[in-house]
Amino acid sequence: MTDPIADVRSIQIERPADHVLRIVLDRADRRNAQDPRMLYQLNDAFDLAGQDDEVKVVILAGEGPTFSAGHDLRAAFAVTDEGQRRAEWGDHPAVSCWGGFTQPGAEGWMAMEEELFLGLCWRWRNFPKPTIAATQGKVIAGGLMLAWVCDLIIAGDDATFSDPVVAFGLNGHEYFVHAWELGARKAKELLFTGGAITAEEARALGMVNRVVPREQLADATLALAVRIAAMPSLGLKLAKQAVNQSLDAQGQWTALQAALSLHEIGHSHNREVHGSVVDPTGAERIRRLSAAGT
Ligand code: ZN
Repeated sequence: MTDPIADVRSIQIERPADHVLRIVLDRADRRNAQDPRMLYQLNDAFDLAGQDDEVKVVILAGEGPTFSAGHDLRAAFAVTDEGQRRAEWGDHPAVSCWGGFTQPGAEGWMAMEEELFLGLCWRWRNFPKPTIAATQGKVIAGGLMLAWVCDLIIAGDDATFSDPVVAFGLNGHEYFVHAWELGARKAKELLFTGGAITAEEARALGMVNRVVPREQLADATLALAVRIAAMPSLGLKLAKQAVNQSLDAQGQWTALQAALSLHEIGHSHNREVHGSVVDPTGAERIRRLSAAGT
C-alpha cells in the first residue's frame, strides 16, 4: 500500500515493523520547528494511522539532533486574508469548528490557537491507539506539547525539556497540562525559571517512561512498540480510554481551556503594550539566564 501522504515535505511516515507506524518530524534544518503545514501534515498522518486497521501503535520521532524546538516563529500563524491563510497554512480545511482566522486582533489569534495548537493537541491526545514519543536533544515549548500528547515518552539521555514561555509574557505553552505531567510544584519551577530539566529528572518525575543511551533511542522505542503491538487492539484502546477518562474526571480538559483563556489574555496584553503577541525581550531574557547557568 502506498501511504497517501508519504511524500509530504515536513514529516515522513515509516512502517518499521508489523502493526507499527512511525511518524518522523523531518525539518532537521529548522530543528523540527512546527509551522502550520507541518501541524496539518502531522494531523493527516494521525488520521491515516487511525483509519489503518493494520496499525496498532504509533511512534512520533524527530529527525536530527533536536526532537522539536517548538513553533516556528518565522512562520505566519496570524493571517489577514484567506489567500494568505491558504499560502501559509496549506489547503487543509479547518479540523475544529473554529473559524474567523483572518479576523483582526484577539479574535483571529485565539481562533488560530484553538485550531492549530490546543485543538490539534487535544485531538492527538485522544487518538485511540497507543502513541510513543521518541525524544532527543532539545524539546522546547511546542515540542513539549507534541511529546505530552503521546501516551508514553522515551528519552535519549541527551534530551532536555523546557517551556520558557513565561519569559515572553505568557503563562506557558497552549497545551497546559504541566501540573499533571510534572506535579504542581515542579511545574511552577519549570515555568517560573524558564529552565530545562534533563531526561533523568523527567523520568524521576514520572514525565518520561524510560531514558536510554541516545544511540539506542530508535531501537528501544521500536522494541517497546512491538511489544505493545502484541496486545489485542481493543484491549489497548480500552486501557488508553480508561486512563484518559481518569484524567478527564480530574478536570484536565476544563483546566486546559481555562489556561488557554489566560494565555489569550497574555497575548492581548503583549499586543497592547509591546505591539507583538509576545514580549519581545523574551529570547534575550532566556539567553541571559542560560548563560548565567541559573
Ligand atoms: Zn500562544
